This record gives sequence, structure tokens and C-alpha cells, in this order.
Amino acid sequence: MRLSSAHVPRRQLIVATSNPGKLREFRALLADLPFEICSQRDINVVPAEETGASFLENALLKARHAAASGAAAIADDSGLEVDALGGAPGIFSARYAGLGADDAANNAKLMIAMAGVPRERRGARYRCALAFVDGAMDAAPLTAEAHWQGVILDSPRGTGGFGYDSYFWLPELGLSAAELDPPHKNRLSHRGIAMRALRDQLAARNLPVRR
Ligand code: IMP
Repeated sequence: MRLSSAHVPRRQLIVATSNPGKLREFRALLADLPFEICSQRDINVVPAEETGASFLENALLKARHAAASGAAAIADDSGLEVDALGGAPGIFSARYAGLGADDAANNAKLMIAMAGVPRERRGARYRCALAFVDGAMDAAPLTAEAHWQGVILDSPRGTGGFGYDSYFWLPELGLSAAELDPPHKNRLSHRGIAMRALRDQLAARNLPVRR
């Protein structure tokens, strides 16, 4: 008996994040892949400690931690680098205002740090490192990195996205990242660009991935 593709059980892919904004973007970016997407919270994986010194190290350790269950896992480590702040908050973006800080607290700290910085010195970029680990014993994880250039606003604009998006201005569009609809953000963003590079690598590993 032939099974239709609807009956072939899909492999599980754990998205190793506890950030609901990221999870939403991951679900959209991965929607057409032949995996059953679940978050690490769905399967009771406790978040990994982010002890790496770079986005890439942290992405790899988060993906490996989630893949210890035996399933495939994908993780992103990402953040905002502000030139006038010497690259801060960088890998500490999620906890810029302290462990457990929310987006509002992180943005408030950013505004204090940027007070008085003139327009021409407000350049910044989001960075994203992605890692895909195919189970606990994968010795050749796939990785991809990308960035997205912008300017830090001095007051918020827009209500979409998450994190620093309402302060991240895209001069060529005349919009903040929080004013983009989700598919538009995914086409342009650090995470969207890195994901397309990772998908090319998945396809080269013979996973049936549409490029
Ligand atoms: P991570 O979960 O340790 O990788 O932390 C990522 C943090 O960087 C988030 O909590 C946000 O503060 C920030 N960040 C990363 N990507 C984005 C984005 O696309 N929009 C807004 N903030 C982002």
C-alpha cells in the first residue's frame, strides 16, 4: 500500500528558543519544511545557559542542548550591535537591562545610553547566527550568519515585531522594523537571510527543502 505524503510521519524539529517573538518568526520561516515544528518548551527542554563568547557559539550550544533529546534542533542566537556603544548590547541583548529583563526595560536602557548621540552616529545592526544539529551525535552541524543594518531611533515607531524593533529604523524604507508586516520583515531581516542560507545547506544534505 502506498502512503500519501499526508500519512508519512514528519520528523520532529525542535526550535530551541523560549522567546515567543522569535518562535513566531521561526514557524513562518520553516512552515514548508518536512518537519513537525515544536518549541523546546513543548517538550520540556530547559533553556541552555548561554555561555558562549559569540552569537555562533551560543547558537551551537543551544541547538546541541535541545538535540540531546535525539531529535533535530535549530537555534538562533541574535542581538543588536550599536556602533556608538562599542557593539553593545551584542550577545547580551536579551538581558541588557539585567537577567530576566523584558523588552521595555531593555529599550529603556538603550534610550538612556543613546541620549544625545547625534543622528549620524546612531548606526546599528542586528546579527543572527543559526545552527541546525541533526540529533545528539551530529558531528557536522550546519550554521549560517547574517546581519541587518539600521539606525537607532530616539522614540519608538510601530507595534509589530519584538525586542528592539520599534527603535530599529530602516532609512531606505522610511519605516521601523516594527512597522513591517511579518512576511516583509522575514524577507529582509538578519534571521530571514540566515535562514535562507541554512535552507540551501539543508537542501544540499538532501532534505526536501524548497529554496
Ligand atoms: P537571544 O534569545 O539570546 O538570542 O536574544 C536575542 C535578543 O536580541 C532578543 O531578546 C532581542 O532583544 C534581540 N533581537 C534579536 N533579534 C531581534 C529582532 O529580530 N527584533 C528585535 N530584537 C531582536
